Amino acid sequence: MRTRHSHAIKLVFAAALALLVIFAAACGEKPEEPVDVDASVTEAITSAPTAIPTEAPTEAPTAEPTEAPTEEPTAEPTEAPTEEPTAQPANTPKPTQAANPSQSGRKVYLTFDDGPTDRTPKVLDILKQYNAKATFFTVGYMVNNNPKTAKRIVDEGHLLACHTQSHDLKKIYKSTEALINDINAWRATVKKAVGYDAGAYVMRFPGGTTNTTIGGRNGRSPYVKAVNKAGYKVFDWNIGLNDAWLAGNTKNLPIIDYLWESYTTTYAMYKNKDPLILIIHDTRAESVKLLPRVLEDLIAKGFEFGLVSELDDNYLM
Ligand SMILES: [Zn+2]
Repeated sequence: MRTRHSHAIKLVFAAALALLVIFAAACGEKPEEPVDVDASVTEAITSAPTAIPTEAPTEAPTAEPTEAPTEEPTAEPTEAPTEEPTAQPANTPKPTQAANPSQSGRKVYLTFDDGPTDRTPKVLDILKQYNAKATFFTVGYMVNNNPKTAKRIVDEGHLLACHTQSHDLKKIYKSTEALINDINAWRATVKKAVGYDAGAYVMRFPGGTTNTTIGGRNGRSPYVKAVNKAGYKVFDWNIGLNDAWLAGNTKNLPIIDYLWESYTTTYAMYKNKDPLILIIHDTRAESVKLLPRVLEDLIAKGFEFGLVSELDDNYLM
């Protein structure tokens, strides 16, 4: 009797302890960590629906997000705790921290579209901190608005590249002549802003070369040829944050989590593509906020950062 009684007490105690443990675990649970897509996603899906879509035709560089950069309270994803050796101070990039830098020696090409904006100086600060170079596909009238930042892009060794003067899809894709005229206007704008002919002969089509305004892949050929003939190489992209396509956030994640998920998903799909070209918009606060984490991830994987001007040929998606 006495034994059975003490047995019952033990059972009750064990049950209470179990509940306590479960409760503590639930309370202490961190925000969802992104899955290791590297390991879990199969590859060679070159046209999967999660691929970054082309920019919406209505997207304009002036469509600045209205949120203040300080608005995200708890959305910041936490750092992967296993990546930081204990001896290292936190927040310091450590290019050698990866246990298994699977992409050692490969290059990734960082590209920033639609600026320069008032967020671009912060992007330049971050790139300097991580010793990374990037290509800025700039819009002429934004260069007019931010000439000092345009000059800083060049002065700090990045590529000041062309994303047309107007970014007005209806106007620039009316004809190949209209597109070349707009590109020429961009070049004149850059020359005036920076003080010399600082524009690279590297161009990205607003909306990408597959956008429907120029007839998708079928229609792009004369346009790409005309731009090549004018002396510019053309670059689309393959990985990115989907930061010009928030409509893709069907799970209603906090924006910064959606951007990170887009990055990891597209990376998993295209990581073996050559060249690997990452698109980010320096118009969006969350993108700038996420940039250090993206750079740390790429560095940990063993990547180096290249400028698209090093590439011999166009890259068309
Ligand atoms: Zn654009």
